[in-house]
Amino acid sequence: MANKEELRALIRAQILSGRLPRSFQHDVYSGKGDGHPCACCGKPIARTRVQYDVEMSRAEDDTDLALSMHFHCYRAWQDETLRLQREAHLQPDA
Ligand SMILES: [Zn+2]
Repeated sequence: MANKEELRALIRAQILSGRLPRSFQHDVYSGKGDGHPCACCGKPIARTRVQYDVEMSRAEDDTDLALSMHFHCYRAWQDETLRLQREAHLQPDA
């Protein structure tokens, strides 16, 4: 299993490449894993683990998005989204 820093780097890269949205405007449902791959780390979410289902509609192209992810991946995704937003605010205007 990837350590925390590796997971965060992976999620950050996925946000920057647009594979993961950077949005807090979403509904989230928690339940047991159903074996689908996690949207963050790509590993299947076992039935013994907590799965978070994230649903949102993407403003850019008005599509509905449904993502399944591990609870710890959800937390890391939220943390990285926040960090990227903070960094964007810190950048001086060109
Ligand atoms: Zn995961």
